[in-house]
This record gives sequence, C-alpha cells and structure tokens, in this order.
Amino acid sequence: MTFLEFLQSNDLYALSGFLMFAHAAQGYGYVTTIPAFYGLWWITPELLNGYMQMSFREELEKFYDPKSEFFQQIRGTWVRAVVTAIVGGAADVVKRTTTMLPEGYQKIWTTIAEKDGLDVRYGVEILDQGIDRQLDDPSAPVRIKYRQKGKNEVIEEEYDFLIYSAPHAHAKNFVKDVAIQEESIFSSLKSFVLATTLYSSEPVLDYTDSARRPIMYEADKMSGPSHDGSWYADRWDDLIFGQPIPGRQTRVGYQFYENYCQGGDMMCNSDRTPNEGGAMESSERALRQFRGELERQNVSGVNTLRQYPWPYFHHFPQEAVQEGKVWDLLEMQGQRKTWWIGASACFESVHDVTNYNLMILRRSAKKPRSPKKWLWVKHMHPGAQVPKQMSAGQKYMYPDSDGAGERMEPWQMETWTTTCGALMV
Ligand SMILES: Cc1cc2nc3c(=O)[nH]c(=O)nc-3n(C[C@H](O)[C@H](O)[C@H](O)COP(=O)(O)OP(=O)(O)OC[C@H]3O[C@@H](n4cnc5c(N)ncnc54)[C@H](O)[C@@H]3O)c2cc1C
Repeated sequence: MTFLEFLQSNDLYALSGFLMFAHAAQGYGYVTTIPAFYGLWWITPELLNGYMQMSFREELEKFYDPKSEFFQQIRGTWVRAVVTAIVGGAADVVKRTTTMLPEGYQKIWTTIAEKDGLDVRYGVEILDQGIDRQLDDPSAPVRIKYRQKGKNEVIEEEYDFLIYSAPHAHAKNFVKDVAIQEESIFSSLKSFVLATTLYSSEPVLDYTDSARRPIMYEADKMSGPSHDGSWYADRWDDLIFGQPIPGRQTRVGYQFYENYCQGGDMMCNSDRTPNEGGAMESSERALRQFRGELERQNVSGVNTLRQYPWPYFHHFPQEAVQEGKVWDLLEMQGQRKTWWIGASACFESVHDVTNYNLMILRRSAKKPRSPKKWLWVKHMHPGAQVPKQMSAGQKYMYPDSDGAGERMEPWQMETWTTTCGALMV
C-alpha cells in the first residue's frame, strides 16, 4: 500500500497536501508512490505535533512580538498543551521544527573521532572484491585490500569485524563473499536522486527580494514522478553562503528524481561519492532542466557553480517490505562478522542512522546471565548507579559464570545497565 492509499483508507486524506512538504520535499519519495511503511516511519505523531506547535506559534507571532512579556507567558508549555490536546502525539516544546548546527553535522563526527581517539582514514579506495571475511573460518580475521588515493601501492590489513556503512546495494562490488541471504536483501534496495545545485543569480521575486525568505518549497512539484527533476525547493541564507558579489545571491536549488536514469548514464549508476576535491560528477541533463525551470520562473543572471546529484534514500520497495526484508536485515546483524549499517539499513536521516546504530549496539551487548552479576556490580559501584563518568578506554569488570571475571568496555556497561536498569536499584 502506498502512503497515499494508507491516508485515504484511514480517513487522513486531508493531510496529503501537507505531507507533500513534510515527507516528499525532504527527498523521501512521493506520497503517491512511496510504501506506507516509510511514510509512517517519518511522519510520527510527535512530528505532526511539532509542526502544529510551530504553525501555532507562527500565527501568534503575527500578533505578538516573540520577545514581548505577554508572548513569553503564553508560548512554550501552553502552546504545547493546546496542540497535544487537539492533535495528540507526545512532542517536547517546539518552537521551530528545523535547527541547524553552526558548523554542520560534520562537526559532531569529527568531534567524536577526536574525543574518542578514533583512527579515521580518508582517501581509502577499497579494491574491487577487496574485502574478504573468510567466512569458512569463524575465527579468521576480515581481510581488506585498499589503495590510498593517489598511490599505487596495495595495502592489506586484517580486522576482527566489519562494519559496512556505504550503500548495501553495491556491497557485492567490494565484499568478495556476500552471502546468498545478504544479496537477496541488498538486491531489492532501490534509491532516488536528490540533486543540489549551488548557483548565483539576481534576487527572486517574492522569495529573496524584499520578502527575504530563507527557504522556498513548491509542494505542487512534489506530487508525483511526472514532476521529476523540477526545481521544487531552494535555500538562501546569508549566514551559510555569504554574499560574495553585491546584488547577486548565492543559493542552493533542489531537484528530486524517482526515475533518476532519465538524468543520463552518470546518474543511473548510483555508486558514486564526491571526489578528492569534494566535487561530484554532474549531470548535464539535470543541469539543463534546472536552468530551464529557473528561466521559466523569470530568475535572471543565473550562474550555476556546482552540482551534486546525490544517490539518495536507499529503501525497500513495497514487495520487499512485505517480504520482511527490513527485519531480515536486522536479524542478520552480527552474523558473518558484519554489521550492515547506514541509511540503507533504516532511513535517510541522521537521527535514524544514529539510532539504528545504537539499537544494534544494544542488541549485541552482553546481557547478564544471573542476578549474581548485578549484585557484584552493585558491590563494585556502591549505590549501584551506572557509572556515568566513565571515560573512553576505562574498563569495568564483572564476574563470568565461572566467577573468573571479564573485562567490559564502557559502552557495553552502559548498554548492559540501561537494558536491565530495574535490577540495579
Ligand atoms: C543534500 C542532502 C541534505 C540532507 N539533509 C539532511 C538533514 O537536514 N537532516 C538529516 O537528518 N539528514 C539529511 N540528509 C541525509 C543524511 O545526510 C544521511 O541520511 C546520512 O548522512 C546517511 O549516513 P550514512 O552513514 O548512511 O551515509 P554517509 O553519510 O553517506 O556515509 C557513507 C560514507 O561511505 C563512503 N563510501 C561510499 N562508498 C565507499 C567505498 N566504496 N569506499 C569507501 N568509502 C565509501 C562515502 O564517501 C561516505 O563518506 C541529507 C542528505 C543530502 C544528500
């Protein structure tokens, strides 16, 4: 069942217009074609509640200065309480549904790597079939062969475990021993293309002229595949892009493709990432379509600077969802010395990718085998609280069934105690 069919059969059709913006405009597929499974994954009661709170506040802000004392009194929990009573859902207090990190998401990952002292290597080109898990021997290491970008030398290394976060659909190009079960899951994955184009132009009427809106969406262009490749959204924010040339604005335009092969051979091959210089091969067809749309909308002085046709939203089509492939993949985690993570395993958002990782981490953490262990931990940590101030590299011990004791990493400890916390207090 498509998301639209789900809405119709549950008397929720009135939401479809709004969802073209809240779901489709994020590149998560047209409401008219995407399986209901993904629509329901993204559009939760909490999310709807948050949107309602934001709209309610925006209406109030038309009448009251957000900084006024009166407004301060009526906003926040009051707005949330009214919205929750009317639409349900259990969101926190929401002012705006979108937030931006000043230095981008990238800052989170680089900080994690720095604080945890992770050995992250860039410019690694895994050879074709360069990963060999040696599946015939469970205790054998995972062998990797790669080249450091720009160098000819082939480097071979061995690891205990493989965590694969690139698109699963292309895993067979890099992993020598993809099992039949794995391939039957990965081969059903489909993707879209979300093309972003950095460009400059003169101000756009009712958008970036005196209206000075930071974002533009045209929801009508997100109604179905016949609109593939249209200029449906745009971002303009001086804080991000600056204004290097007076009178001209630098912005990012968005195009979405369900049937992305119409963008040409380059776009049809979804195994691509930006090159060393951070650029990506562009699609001349998609660029032509973009320029044509801008021209029709009377945007003048257009100069396209760079295009990124991102392969996007690897997901299971309806049939594969019904066959249970999403759950088969989850059940398979940890087997064959591998975790298959990233957007292919769940949903194309940082929130979902991160939460999926936490979920499989928790599932795989050691569980206590007897209450004796809890008592032992309690003894080790008077008050039996989770040791919150554990630092990276620090280890805690718990007794094994033979009482010998075993070392436990902080993350295992945290998982262990979170899962069975009730026993701790
Ligand atoms: C334009 C755009 C805007 C977005 N906006 C948002 C947003 O506002 N909020 C949000 O939550 N999400 C957003 N997303 C989605 C979010 O970026 C992704 O869901 C998330 O980054 C996916 O994480 P991942 O680890 O699965 O993949 P990635 O972050 O893509 O990481 C995969 C990595 O694998 C590398 N790789 C691939 N193949 C190979 C190979 N053969 N060898 C070596 N390395 C390889 C890639 O270079 C990449 O670094 C946006 C995405 C795009 C494209």
